[in-house]
Amino acid sequence: MINTIYVENEIKDHLRTLSILSKFKRSRVIYIHKYSEIFNKKKQSFRLQKKDPLLILAKKNNNFVLKAPEGFGIGASENYYFSHMYNCIYDCKYCFLQGLYSSANYLVFVNYEDFLTQIKNLVTRNKGKSITFFSGYDCDSLAMEKVTNFAVFFLKNYLQSKNITYEFRTKSLQIHPFLKNEPTENIIIAYSLLPEDFANKFDVKVPSINLRIKSLKQLTSLGWKIGLRFDPLIYNKNWKISYKELINTILNEIDMNYLHSVSFGSLRFPKQIFSTISNMYPGDELFSYNFEKRDNVYSYKDEVEEEMISFCKNLIHKKVKKDVQIFSCTPY
Ligand code: SF4
Repeated sequence: MINTIYVENEIKDHLRTLSILSKFKRSRVIYIHKYSEIFNKKKQSFRLQKKDPLLILAKKNNNFVLKAPEGFGIGASENYYFSHMYNCIYDCKYCFLQGLYSSANYLVFVNYEDFLTQIKNLVTRNKGKSITFFSGYDCDSLAMEKVTNFAVFFLKNYLQSKNITYEFRTKSLQIHPFLKNEPTENIIIAYSLLPEDFANKFDVKVPSINLRIKSLKQLTSLGWKIGLRFDPLIYNKNWKISYKELINTILNEIDMNYLHSVSFGSLRFPKQIFSTISNMYPGDELFSYNFEKRDNVYSYKDEVEEEMISFCKNLIHKKVKKDVQIFSCTPY
């Protein structure tokens, strides 16, 4: 239940605003000038707001599509990301949004068309190059789908071209827009996955691993391309057993003919975000192993990262077809 919804005056009559508001008939609606009055306020407590987040509906005016960070890619020469929403209904302990924003309120930008216009401009500017556009960087791309209908809109209107791939990264079971549409080679639905024992501790409020695997099976049964994202890889003393079990379960249950790519990235945080988040969880197991600072990023020791990524990659290599692409977000 969302008790209060803030709406920017400029989009108060926007059809998408009205449609979203119609889903929250009992919520209090407050009209504001700019979303930043609420979202960017100083001295907010992310953890406190996470207990009872507000919804903010706004218009995004710039930076619709941004260059993806170094190492974020699945084989294209150019990588960009876009977020129709900031923040998430889930509460993963390692989520970098906790350190990125001071507010945990859900901010939804209703002018979806402008994201597609920017994508089209970038495709024109990068003519002939392969490009991946990632959805789900500042949010989970599907978790709020019942409210936002963003994927429904996207699937009706996206630009098709053989050089372009779109990735919807998620942990959500809200895959109905894909189930209702014909599969296409250009779109990958990529699931972030952790071994069950890790997910039970760190993926707070997130659908279980079994349910995520069930969604992957549903998608492949209809011919949709999927991605497996083992990012973050999390360390504990039993990590080998846990990851072996997870990877074997997935490879046994899912039709590998529809596997587009697999990627790995060990747990890592930009310096400032690391101190903010680790202070939110004093004494938590997630931060109890040695982290090292390298190039302003806190991550496990080099040799731990390397061993984890090589071990998991080998498990995958043994079972999947040669043309499945396997990537590391760190250089191993
Ligand atoms: S699903 Fe992703 S965006 Fe949502 S809380 Fe977890 S890590 Fe953050």
